[in-house]
Amino acid sequence: MIARLASSLAKREWTSASRIPRAFQPTRSSESASMSSRRQRTIARPVLIEGFGLFGGADVRMSLLPAEPHTGLVFERVDLPGRPSIPARIEYLVTQPRRTVLQKGSARVEMVEHVLAALAGMWIDNCRIQLDALEPPIGDGSSLESVEAILHAGVAEQAALKVQVPVSASLVATSPNERGSIQAEPASNWTIRYDLDYGDTVIRPQSFTATITPEEFVREIAFARTFVLESEVAMLKARGFGQRATPQNLLVFGQNGIVENRMRAADECARHKLLDCIGDFALCGGCPVGHFHAIQSGHHLNHGIVEQMLQKRPSQRRSA
Ligand SMILES: [Zn+2]
Repeated sequence: MIARLASSLAKREWTSASRIPRAFQPTRSSESASMSSRRQRTIARPVLIEGFGLFGGADVRMSLLPAEPHTGLVFERVDLPGRPSIPARIEYLVTQPRRTVLQKGSARVEMVEHVLAALAGMWIDNCRIQLDALEPPIGDGSSLESVEAILHAGVAEQAALKVQVPVSASLVATSPNERGSIQAEPASNWTIRYDLDYGDTVIRPQSFTATITPEEFVREIAFARTFVLESEVAMLKARGFGQRATPQNLLVFGQNGIVENRMRAADECARHKLLDCIGDFALCGGCPVGHFHAIQSGHHLNHGIVEQMLQKRPSQRRSA
């Protein structure tokens, strides 16, 4: 019996970054343990989220299920013959603009970064993510629905120690136009700083720094929503994407500010970009340990630094 969520967090009125009701706050026992000594975690029981995908707009049911130690995070396309699995690992990455896409054989999943961020941010090491369509549900454009599902399901500690993927040397990934970069340095835990500068737009320069623990993810990061410029919406819809996107599931910035919505925090955009980093870094196949400084980075650079961490050359990546 899979619990079906009656979403309450996503429908909350957000006025500040105080954010998560006490009843939804995770237990602190495993968070107080140092990252190096903690055990692997899964969810305690299955849970279901229903909705539709942002890019393609298809209805979708996403079930999160407990998984054995060392399973990792694994997608399953239950609508396809044989219910093929697609591990959330960088070797299955397919390069596509504006989202993270994975493919194994002919089975593909798209825009997986927000559910991966929820799982990695909450230190869920092992989980089967069943989808009956191409994309997870977009929810309100943040990771809140997935967080709520995980908290609803509960967290179960497992006997095995977690798999660390440390940054073992100074690394840097830089975009071709050199506007964006990510530096990674060895550290004793997982921290990310994100600096955002959209130049001459209504989105002001902003920065956010976080240590990635379940408590901090739930409280400070999970609520931050996907955002676009109004001019980009027209371009994307002209290409057939985002037909069901509205200013309520996609934060839209027009020339005079945010369209038909309100910010949940003044630096919500930087927090969302940091959320994307968490989801993308999870493709390393374990828990990243290091300090990451991202400047104006997107999925391509996020994936690039993971490849460097694993000492894989970008040429191994497949294109669509
Ligand atoms: Zn995102």
